[in-house]
Amino acid sequence: MAEKAKACPECHQVFDIPKKPGWWLKSNNEITAKNKKELANVAFSTVNGREPTDDERKAWNKENKDDIEKEKVDPPRCPDHPDTNPSNDWQGFTILLNPSRSEVARALGIEEPGSYALKVRHQ
Ligand SMILES: [Zn+2]
Repeated sequence: MAEKAKACPECHQVFDIPKKPGWWLKSNNEITAKNKKELANVAFSTVNGREPTDDERKAWNKENKDDIEKEKVDPPRCPDHPDTNPSNDWQGFTILLNPSRSEVARALGIEEPGSYALKVRHQ
């Protein structure tokens, strides 16, 4: 399930939540999993058409250890307010294409085009 995007309480910018961290194969970007064990299962069964036994999985892990990598996902940060935690308690998603001509942008003090939330609460 996708997480709700977060918004900066200072400037109201809305940021998409990147996908969750997980494991993946460098040699095959299609193969991803939420943990290392599952990655081995998925990769093994893609090749062999069945799930590996414990021994086979251990062998596979050893063989492919340089190909396995943990995908890191940094939580979203506002580039303008890196010390402020983006909040997921917000309302009123708005895309401002032309802030200089928008009443909403003026009210919120927004100068840059982008995605904004009308109301953001600090968390
Ligand atoms: Zn901000």
